[in-house]
Amino acid sequence: MDTKTLLTESEMPTHWYNVQADLPRPAEPPLHPGTHQPAGPDDLSPIFPMGLIAQEMSQERYIEIPDEVQDIYRIWRPTSLYRAHRLEKALGTPAKIYFKYEGTSPAGSHKPNTAVPQAYYNKQEGIKRITTETGAGQWGSAMAMACSFMDIECKVYMVGISYDQKPYRKSLMETWGAEVLSSPTNTTNSGRAILAQDPNSPGSLGIAISEAVEEAAGRDDTNYSLGSVLNHVLMHQSVIGQEVRTQMEKLDAYPDILVGCVGGGSSFGGIAFPFIKDKLDGKDIRFIAVEPEACPTITRGKYTYDFGDTGEMTPLVKMHTLGHTFVPPPIHAGGLRYHGMAPLISLLVDLELIEAKAVHQNAVFRSAITLARTEGMISAPEPAHALAVAIDEALKCKETGEAKNILFLLCGHGNFDMSSYDAYLSGSLEDYSLPDELIERNLASVPQF
Ligand SMILES: *Cc1c(COP(=O)(O)O)cnc(C)c1O
Repeated sequence: MDTKTLLTESEMPTHWYNVQADLPRPAEPPLHPGTHQPAGPDDLSPIFPMGLIAQEMSQERYIEIPDEVQDIYRIWRPTSLYRAHRLEKALGTPAKIYFKYEGTSPAGSHKPNTAVPQAYYNKQEGIKRITTETGAGQWGSAMAMACSFMDIECKVYMVGISYDQKPYRKSLMETWGAEVLSSPTNTTNSGRAILAQDPNSPGSLGIAISEAVEEAAGRDDTNYSLGSVLNHVLMHQSVIGQEVRTQMEKLDAYPDILVGCVGGGSSFGGIAFPFIKDKLDGKDIRFIAVEPEACPTITRGKYTYDFGDTGEMTPLVKMHTLGHTFVPPPIHAGGLRYHGMAPLISLLVDLELIEAKAVHQNAVFRSAITLARTEGMISAPEPAHALAVAIDEALKCKETGEAKNILFLLCGHGNFDMSSYDAYLSGSLEDYSLPDELIERNLASVPQF
């Protein structure tokens, strides 16, 4: 039976895969926010360790995973690849639906795959404290755990509205020893500037990033850590796709369609990039990145240089963006509420190697309930976006009679998101369609040069 395809620890990848080695066109460099010249290692070294800066810029195809990181990965890796027989049956589709499940990590998502190496390289370079931001709390909890493993202090700026709505994520971070603040705070210039405009600001990822970067830039013993978007983050997540490749080979199967959700793009890059070279070599595989209609970065944003944060402190990166002033409506998939996108994902979209789709949250939760009642897993709201599109594709197969292999990434569980399931079940979940004027207005914040 192929219900659950396992790997042994000895079959785990020993290297991260770097898609930069195989791109048909190189990614455009990040630019210094002040001079607009390409940002070099020295521009990044106030907030990142050299080990990670080197990976960010590397063109090497494979980079060895340090033994200490591999040892920690083994706590939850390798993760299982499932065949969703019961979901297929409920849908009455001839398609075969596979999903890779990352919800079995201690923090409940794929995020520890990069949190652990990030904490490791900071520790190697003598860093004592790490600041970071978190939206729904998944990244903050992964980083809190990784820092506790490496004996590093962790300070998390948590988007204010999530701080109030998701108290147990805060408890989780504190259990792993982190300090958690509700952002915007009055302890940074960026936070105070926002509070001066709006004392009741609900916060956003862009604001929380500004606060965390500002603190790290101002202290020698402190670095900053980002849970998505950057090249090295997507590379660390390649353990997911490399494992899937081995698992699909064991099943003598290959995905026709690969679906994942995109917030900043790290989980999607993690599962998709190890298959990208095949597509460049002519293999017939579709990649679909799914985002919320309430934060339609790829489908309605612009591919251009923009800031990664609201306070204009980060380098400018070439990416799909809704404008760094954009504050998304309060949908429940907090991890998908980011104005930008990983430059590597944006480039592959621009090259027409990756497609994008946007979905509304009621359709997303309808799919999540279907998964819960067939396969049992309680999906996080974010990957339920991928699930919704996987189900759509499976239903198309029902019409055409094609037995396609559909693979999606279930990158986290939703055990801390039950209030959003309550909202769906009680019929009080709102779908948000953004007016064109709102998108135009925020795109006007994108720097012109
Ligand atoms: C953080 C997170 C996301 C969004 O981030 P990506 O970098 O796009 O993966 C999606 N799902 C879960 C479960 C997350 O924790």
